[in-house]
Amino acid sequence: MARGQRPVALVTGGAGFIGSHLCERLSDEGMDVVCADNFATGSAANVVHLLDRPGFRLVEADLTEPLDLDGPFGYVFHLASAASPRDYLRLPVETLEAGSLGTRNALALAEAHGARFVLASTSEVYGDPLEYPQREDYWGNVNPVGPRSVYDEAKRYAESLTMAFRRARGTDVGIARIFNSYGPRLRPGDGRVVPTFIRQALDGEPLTVAGDGRQTRSVCYVDDTVAGLLALARSDLTGPVNIGSDEELSVLALARLVREITGSDSPVVFVDRPVDDPRFRRPDITLAAERLGWRPRVLLEEGLRRTINYFRAQRGLPPVSEWV
Ligand code: NAD
Ligand code: UDP
Repeated sequence: MARGQRPVALVTGGAGFIGSHLCERLSDEGMDVVCADNFATGSAANVVHLLDRPGFRLVEADLTEPLDLDGPFGYVFHLASAASPRDYLRLPVETLEAGSLGTRNALALAEAHGARFVLASTSEVYGDPLEYPQREDYWGNVNPVGPRSVYDEAKRYAESLTMAFRRARGTDVGIARIFNSYGPRLRPGDGRVVPTFIRQALDGEPLTVAGDGRQTRSVCYVDDTVAGLLALARSDLTGPVNIGSDEELSVLALARLVREITGSDSPVVFVDRPVDDPRFRRPDITLAAERLGWRPRVLLEEGLRRTINYFRAQRGLPPVSEWV
């Protein structure tokens, strides 16, 4: 597990939103990091600030092809997959392959290196949930042939494959079911609700609330998400374990909050709701609290302010004031 006494972590999808924060945090903690990405939805710009660090390596690789990477790896974090609905609807086959072939290749690598494998699964495995809040023992309500199924079923398969490697081959695995995360490095055009509302508010465009906006989400600041992934990696928990905020709010309330913090007077407009859009979503995070000692720390207003300030900085604008 060590190269020159330092643990090496492989982060697949490391040039994406969550992956880049994970790479940074692992590097901050003194680990050697290999970031493998095919840049389908991520960008080298997200990790460019890490390239000069000793022990950090960026490798262009498609996880759906067999991998031959220098380790030895102590940890394999498997994040490679489109994650935004706009991206996975645009890349349906690639998304299914990242979840199936990609997960298989990442698991095989972890097995070969005797590494601990952490799967970035998703709250989408619960589909449009019929139980509330969602506990890990809920099996979900997924439409297997709907447009979102390319993502949901890929992740359900990835979880199943991960469990098969553990049961049949003794691979050391942990499954994180990540709920909506947000923060700096989200792309303004990736279509997810937080970056979309922020971009629209900063551009003075109407905020596009889907349906009547009463559907709920519980959004978690990316630093907390990354802390949850690390806690899982360092534990012996197989899971699955929910990693997300339990501070739930409606999409309409989120739009109003973004308007308030940005000081924007953009109107809200109501647009069609996507097919199979889940009506509500809130994790039960008891398992993470009890087994990992983890819970989110960053309050929504603070996380949104940091994210808005990132978007403003990208446009050369000063940060918003501390007080809203
Ligand atoms: P992202 O799109 O920003 O990052 C995904 C990264 O994976 C990108 O850099 C992309 O180029 C890379 N990738 C995709 N296919 C690949 C392939 N075949 N080979 C190599 N690299 C590939 O998305 P994100 O929000 O950072 O999500 C990261 C992971 O976390 C995903 O697995 C996603 O399913 C999971 N997740 C994210 C959220 C969230 O709210 N952001 C919620 C639940 C689960
Ligand atoms: N949404 C919205 N306006 C947008 C983008 C998304 O109202 O411009 C809604 C979307 O319909 C869903 C919620 O916000 O109800 C979260 O969507 P997102 O795509 O961020 O993630 P999901 O949780 O659906 O994967």
